[in-house]
Amino acid sequence: MDSITTCFALGQPYHTIAYYSHLIPAAIILALSLFVLVQTKFSLMAKLFSSFGILLSLWLIGDVVLWTVSDYNIISFAWAPLDYINILFYLFGAYFFIVLVKGKDIGLWSKFALFALSLPPFYLTLTNQSIAIFDQTVCEAINNPFLTNYKLVIEGMAILIIIGVAAYYYRLSIKEKRQQIIWVMTGLLAFFLTFSSTEYIASITGIYEISLYSLFILPLFLGGIIYSITSFRMFQLKTFGTQLLVYILLIMIGSQFFFLESTTDKNLTIITFVLSVVFAYFLLRSARREIQARAKVEELALELAVSNNKLQDLDKLKTEFLSLASHQLRSPLTAIKGYASMLNEGTFGELGEKQSEAARRIYASAQGLVSLVEDLLNVSKIEQGGMKYEMTSTDLVPIVESLYNEMKIPASNKGLEFALVVPEDNTVMVTVDPLKMRQVFLNLVDNAIKYTPQGFVKLSLARKDDKVLFSVSDSGVGITAKTKERIFDKFMRGEGGKLDTGGSGLGLYLALEITKAHKGNIIIESAGQDKGSVFTVEIPST
Ligand code: ADP
Repeated sequence: MDSITTCFALGQPYHTIAYYSHLIPAAIILALSLFVLVQTKFSLMAKLFSSFGILLSLWLIGDVVLWTVSDYNIISFAWAPLDYINILFYLFGAYFFIVLVKGKDIGLWSKFALFALSLPPFYLTLTNQSIAIFDQTVCEAINNPFLTNYKLVIEGMAILIIIGVAAYYYRLSIKEKRQQIIWVMTGLLAFFLTFSSTEYIASITGIYEISLYSLFILPLFLGGIIYSITSFRMFQLKTFGTQLLVYILLIMIGSQFFFLESTTDKNLTIITFVLSVVFAYFLLRSARREIQARAKVEELALELAVSNNKLQDLDKLKTEFLSLASHQLRSPLTAIKGYASMLNEGTFGELGEKQSEAARRIYASAQGLVSLVEDLLNVSKIEQGGMKYEMTSTDLVPIVESLYNEMKIPASNKGLEFALVVPEDNTVMVTVDPLKMRQVFLNLVDNAIKYTPQGFVKLSLARKDDKVLFSVSDSGVGITAKTKERIFDKFMRGEGGKLDTGGSGLGLYLALEITKAHKGNIIIESAGQDKGSVFTVEIPST
């Protein structure tokens, strides 16, 4: 009977390679499908991918029968549904891609259209019309030509759909999603194009072995796809690979047991097997621990990055708010100051002593607010990188002198000894923005007077090596080591804050920022609380 059902064994030399090229990809694809299902907790996308994977594996199993079996009944049985399965996995591949890119299921009509496309091959296969002729002598079938063309059309369509959907959603997506679209599209297209073209080339050249070899690379593309669609990182994939390898090794070692005959061999295999199980246990356990640790680190890093982003956004918002609020405050303040001084000058009629005093206070408070607003605006300019410096060659002596004369009044009001020392040649030339530098010096002198209840405030301008130094020393409240660390921070107020409650804590911050923009620095020395302090501005001389 054998001679009736067995074809001449043409494909013999290819048996082994055919097994490898079909069964290994099938096993890998099934494992990947299972993996993606578990990883994404049975999401729709994973279900579609696994349907695609299962259909592809079915096709591989059907195809391996054609290569390895000699019974023509079995061959024709396996041959008949291959084209139908082939069409189905192309449709599922495209369906999977649309869902992945859209992030949700397709509409009812689109599903219906996909289903409708799968009906003609289903009907032809069911009614035994998928094969036109089966040549029993060589175990070869000639496919129904309509089905062959239909299959080509569906394959082309699936490829075009994937490209079209990718192009459409690429424009609408954010950066990370775009990368994913590109990766998955490339993987899927590489897969489909390799599959279709090798089949096509094999059918026109008659060299069917081409498709045997091409099957080996297909799981690679699928692995790439899985890697880019699931959120796990490379190392998780590695551990998955380790697990797989370990299990395969155990199965291989274990299976030897059934072939071995001698008791010694059997005993040796048992020992090897038991040892391998023990090693495998430790290996897998350490691999698992490593993933957990790394996953934790990744998670923390991600959280950190997210909160860092949020903080940066908030900071930007705050700076913008600061700038807007300050601009809005400016005009009413100018009005208040203007009217207060007009009241004082008698523009609206003579004022009594008490009214005058009130108007003076309004003016002084408004003036205080104006400088606060100026400081706030300067802070936001610095933070937005918009502070402009007009550097010119400047003599610092007249600047410091005018400052000294201006501050004489508040200093003498407090009964402080107030002095200024400048170099004998009476010039100190530097390249600076004179108005900004004056602001820095003024802040320091103003602070020294504010935070010195009695004693002295001394200013000195000097040249030292390639630097110019402006220092302000006082016998005031001094600065503790702890305060010194943060004294240049925004809104930072030290012990002196109790003495003078009017400050904002911005003066030193601005002074340092401006000095740094001049490639300089501010140095603070203080022996501690109530021991006075020295603030020195250093800038490079020119
Ligand atoms: P403000 O003077 O508005 O509080 P600053 O940034 O100019 O803001 O100063 C920050 C803090 O540094 C002050 O609150 C004060 O405690 C301390 N400080 C500044 N200058 C002196 C000084 N000469 N002596 C003692 N403390 C000072």
